[in-house]
Amino acid sequence: MNAVVIKEVGPRDGLQNEKENIPTAIKAEFIAALRKSGLKYIEITSFVRADRIAQLADATELVALLKERGLWDHPESYSALVPNRRGLDQALEAGLQEIAVFTAASDAFTQKNTNCTIEESLQRIAEIMSVAIPAGVRVRGYISTVVECPYIGKIKPEQVRSVALPLLEMGVYEISLGETIGVAVPDEIAALLDCLLEDIPAHRLAGHYHDTRGTALLNVFRSLQYGLTTFDSSAGGLGGCPYAPGAAGNLATEALVYALERSGYRTGVSLPDLREATGKVQGFVSRPLQMI
Ligand code: MG
Repeated sequence: MNAVVIKEVGPRDGLQNEKENIPTAIKAEFIAALRKSGLKYIEITSFVRADRIAQLADATELVALLKERGLWDHPESYSALVPNRRGLDQALEAGLQEIAVFTAASDAFTQKNTNCTIEESLQRIAEIMSVAIPAGVRVRGYISTVVECPYIGKIKPEQVRSVALPLLEMGVYEISLGETIGVAVPDEIAALLDCLLEDIPAHRLAGHYHDTRGTALLNVFRSLQYGLTTFDSSAGGLGGCPYAPGAAGNLATEALVYALERSGYRTGVSLPDLREATGKVQGFVSRPLQMI
């Protein structure tokens, strides 16, 4: 009872914000150690163009290395972000059984990040879905800027719902609600969930809350009261925040595991083993990672 699913996004969402190039072998060791800690779901990379995110340009090599090292025995534990049809083809070729697609609740944000409107991003996702679903690949959907956009400010919950519903209709099994800039407080998350849960069951929603201003755990605990049981986090808080240099980005998995377990929730994750995993990449990032 009271089980919470933690979706580890460190190897992708975390590392993509780190400047120094991390060797593929270290990434494989990191992923192996994350698995050993008990994490059952890890977003391992993104099949993006090398000129977009150099850090993740080794996606195909990374999967090959995981297979070579006997770390592909539970491929259902792995996911990879896919921006377009080309990325999907590469992910399928590599043998991914789950992918993640992304859009945002703000046109200004999608324009700045992917050079398209929300509508155009949904069309791109529909194209991905039309191949992924018949291929038996599970698809998770990210919506960024669910509370506030760094370019246009506050986002209305109804706007988030208007993006979430078509994603679910297309066959996305779960929506990860990205509080991208880490400004939200629990009452704002509550207002968002009040709106979304009118049409969407709680088990199809996940919280992806950033900790830029120290509010991520507060938002997780408010979400638990609404019946959400899946949360994204990043080992050691890997990732930083591109909108607030020096500040935290992703919620640290260590902090999430600690707070949940101490509150009586079961995560299945061992903190000492998690620390060991974070230790694998600490030497490659410029700031101290959170290893409680
Ligand atoms: Mg994130």
